[in-house]
Amino acid sequence: MTSVPKAGIQQFFRERGLRCTPQRFAVLDFLVKHPGHPTAEEMFREVNRSDPRASRATIYNSLRVLIDAGLVREFIQEGRSSRFGAHIGSHHHFLCDRCGKLEDIAWFSLKGVPRRREVGRRQVREYELVLRGVCEACSASRRPRKNPIP
Ligand SMILES: [Zn+2]
Ligand SMILES: [Zn+2]
Repeated sequence: MTSVPKAGIQQFFRERGLRCTPQRFAVLDFLVKHPGHPTAEEMFREVNRSDPRASRATIYNSLRVLIDAGLVREFIQEGRSSRFGAHIGSHHHFLCDRCGKLEDIAWFSLKGVPRRREVGRRQVREYELVLRGVCEACSASRRPRKNPIP
């Protein structure tokens, strides 16, 4: 996901019938290259470094347009700033309770989920999971050693 060439990014715009402005391109390109789901503020700081004309308003407006077009996904976390990720290719997410890190995990399908009775007459376009728990880094740093070396 990190090696999408420029033409590839432009292709995503074409597929959605969306005008590829330099600002929108910069925002989507940034999210593709940074799969760690940054906040809007983090994006602003980074994008602004290479393009000092980028304003907060431009970043927010571009994000809004990309979200509406389905190219970017917003993750709203209570008490924390929203995080954003390029929504290209199916993947699930893992949210760490301790450090708040949001990670992509490889797609795996759950058989029958979109066909379950609970869905009723709703027409399911897609689905994804947000798994919650303790990430690898946090569980490694907190877990006491089982067999301490004497
Ligand atoms: Zn963590
Ligand atoms: Zn993601």
